[in-house]
Amino acid sequence: MSQQQKSHLTPAMRQYHHFKAQYPEAILFFRMGDFYETFYEDAEICARVLGIALTSRNKSSDQPIPLAGVPYHAVDSYLHKMIDAGYKVAVCEQTEDASQAKGVVQRDVVRLVTPGTLTEDALLQERVGNYLAAVMPGEIRKGANPDDPRRPTGLAWVDVSTGQFCCQLLQRRHLVDELARIAPRECLVAEEAAWVLNGLLDPADTSMIVSRRPDWQFQPKQAMDTLNRHFGTQTLEGFGFADADAGLRAAGAILQYLQETQKAELGHISRLQPVQSDQVLQLDQTTMRSLEIERTMRDSRREGSLLAALDRTVTPMGARLLHQWLCYPLKSLKQIEARQDAIQTLVAEQTLRRQLLESLGKIADMERITTRISTGRASPRDLLSLGQSLEQAPQLQLALQDTQTPLLCQLRDQCTALESTAGLISRAIDPEAGYTIRDGGIIRAGFSEEVDRLRGLSQDGQSWLAEYQKQLVEQTGFANLKIGFNKVFGYYVEVSHAFKGQLPVDFVRKQTIKNGERYITDALKQYESEALTAQQRLKELEESLFQEVRREVAAQTLLLQQVAGAIAGIDVLAALAEVAQQRRYCRPEMTQSKTLEITAGRHPVLDKQLGSEFVPNDVSLGGEHAEVALITGPNMSGKSTYIRQTALLALLAHTGSFIPADTARVGLIDRIFTRVGASDELTRGQSTFMVEMIETANIINNATERSLVILDEVGRGTSTYDGVSLAWAITEHIAAQVGCRTQFATHYHELTELAQLLPNIKNECVAVKEWKEEVVFLHKIIPGRTDKSYGIHVARLAGIPTSIQKRAEEMLAELESHFSGPLSPSDPTTPPQVAHEPTLFDMIQPQDDPLLARLQAIDVNQLTPLQALNLLQEIHEQTNGKSSST
Ligand code: ADP
Repeated sequence: MSQQQKSHLTPAMRQYHHFKAQYPEAILFFRMGDFYETFYEDAEICARVLGIALTSRNKSSDQPIPLAGVPYHAVDSYLHKMIDAGYKVAVCEQTEDASQAKGVVQRDVVRLVTPGTLTEDALLQERVGNYLAAVMPGEIRKGANPDDPRRPTGLAWVDVSTGQFCCQLLQRRHLVDELARIAPRECLVAEEAAWVLNGLLDPADTSMIVSRRPDWQFQPKQAMDTLNRHFGTQTLEGFGFADADAGLRAAGAILQYLQETQKAELGHISRLQPVQSDQVLQLDQTTMRSLEIERTMRDSRREGSLLAALDRTVTPMGARLLHQWLCYPLKSLKQIEARQDAIQTLVAEQTLRRQLLESLGKIADMERITTRISTGRASPRDLLSLGQSLEQAPQLQLALQDTQTPLLCQLRDQCTALESTAGLISRAIDPEAGYTIRDGGIIRAGFSEEVDRLRGLSQDGQSWLAEYQKQLVEQTGFANLKIGFNKVFGYYVEVSHAFKGQLPVDFVRKQTIKNGERYITDALKQYESEALTAQQRLKELEESLFQEVRREVAAQTLLLQQVAGAIAGIDVLAALAEVAQQRRYCRPEMTQSKTLEITAGRHPVLDKQLGSEFVPNDVSLGGEHAEVALITGPNMSGKSTYIRQTALLALLAHTGSFIPADTARVGLIDRIFTRVGASDELTRGQSTFMVEMIETANIINNATERSLVILDEVGRGTSTYDGVSLAWAITEHIAAQVGCRTQFATHYHELTELAQLLPNIKNECVAVKEWKEEVVFLHKIIPGRTDKSYGIHVARLAGIPTSIQKRAEEMLAELESHFSGPLSPSDPTTPPQVAHEPTLFDMIQPQDDPLLARLQAIDVNQLTPLQALNLLQEIHEQTNGKSSST
């Protein structure tokens, strides 16, 4: 906007432009009275995203300004929508009382609301953490390849709503997996290093927005200074950091961003936790997705995930902690057993569990309330909830007083009662106080003499008014005379028209209304000035006392966080004990060996959904059993369920939880790899086969002898020849070179030959019962191999018409008689001689039909989804044209 254009603007609009220029990347919510107004392009965006009317300011001028506004009292729900749509909002408030303002009202941006920096309950999901991450590539030697997947890379993340702040140095190739675990809503990168996220952001997987930040904020000195200043330290060695690595640079950039966006005290971010990924069980992005740990693959919902099946926590912070436990399974036997011991105690002691649950049920989201207290955003209601929650801490301690289990003792001891804080809140805050500070009614009677006196004054005032009204009625004889109040001229006496002209002389007429006249009197005016000043003084005093109490509570932030953390821990352990007891889970024996033995294991999600209809299955891998199991069986017989179940139970065992099985022995695992199901990758612009091979390569290259590998139908995405050869070679490599515990479900019966060639491969199959014409899948895994596909049976289940099933059966019989010849390679090092599986092309020759010839010429792996659709359309038109012309 030119200087000349600006000079035509009103002072308020000039102020608007001043702030908008400071926050060009955000939508500016500009407070005007009871509304937040947005202008120009912002207004157009808001109208679209929020579904509100787009109007204009200066309508009559030749340059009307587009305008859209939202009422201030409902701002949270509008902010919610803007954030969900991926926008940032700068909230510009009036910072002085408009009635006191000389000239234009003073305003300031008090907060930049972005998806990764939320603290308000209304904008957050209660049971899910809300993370902001930052990524920074580390230094490399001169001349080294900057794109090296092993390049050290810094990753830091914070949940500003709880104060959790972590940082890690990892290889760039692992960045995508760690980001999948954290699932941040926003990620900061330095302008010059934004490339570091290239290829990592998959819109199908993440709703994360990227915020580019000035490079200097990531510079080592700047970042370290910010961190040291914030923590009041000289060096970060106390937190376990040696020097300004890329992780700390990312952490420093996060803090600067928070300072800019929050514009508030950040005392609740009290430490930076170093994370070393080799201390937890590694899960890559694909495994997180395909095991459906915290959301389902199909529709990204919590319902149907492992987390939802296990979550019996009662507090929001317990729910968030359970989420973390599932995403970060442990690798240390000691830590796992400590959790198991605690769960075992709680399973055995039902009365204790009931007592804990009863107390936990009365506890609010202390973690987030503490944050709001510390950042000065807590409402009177927040303080009350905190006080009520704190009253439960001694109850929890009491319930746990006799326990000997170390982890429970530790949590009990961390549950400090904080009696003085709880006492202060209960003395100071009125139990009926609401969410706002300005309207008064916050401070409890008896806490402050002055508050009580001022309240008395205004209450006496009410009785004075009643008395005065009575006097006037008596004096004038007008029975319907009454006293009222409005904002324009304060207290008035109202009488009906009938009495006009018969009034005492000191009545001064102020207003004529439909039914009568309004007057003021000297006595009323005098009362008014006293009462109103008392009320105003009362409000101001209540507000300042409230802030004082809030500050006093904020001084306990660290202890409050410790108590909240302990409560979350107790909640998770009690919840896991509850599931274990109700669903008959067992305590897995964790060992240093390389075995995985499970008897009567159940899939945690299906176990809950199907109940007794679910068929339990055993697993025996490694140790005295073969490491690699090849599982064959018809489609829909339960292979995928079985192998996912193995991975889920192994994962669950490493969180310290009990697992759905009769017994289990689990040798520690370092990583779980899965390549499960032909997930629909078309949306990602890669052919399914390519994705399948990338994921398989990741497994082959990274699995160690301590890993657990789950493969489903690898090789399916290409032709039979290719597919079976690849599957063969991959299995051989895993068995002979890696030797890790592996389950491979496949419909390639040919692979079962491998069990005769390598000692650590065994065959398993899904039991099928054939009875007359019927085929029943028993979902039971038994030793041995299958050599039938039952595809036609599955087609019947799916509703393919009987005529087609019959014809298919005839064709099958014919094909089997034509093309038989089992696979029998003699040397595992030579590629297998695959029996040629007949295709449509064997039956009808391409030269008979140009369409078939065309189809045969297509290289499916080179087709983009769009090309495939266009081709289909063309063929459709071609064949329709053909049939209509004949
Ligand atoms: P496959 O991988 O062999 O095609 P799935 O694992 O997808 O088969 O299972 C097919 C269906 O069978 C699933 O929808 C599931 O509900 C059911 N199923 C699988 N395993 C079991 C089981 N152990 N008990 C009961 N039902 C099962």
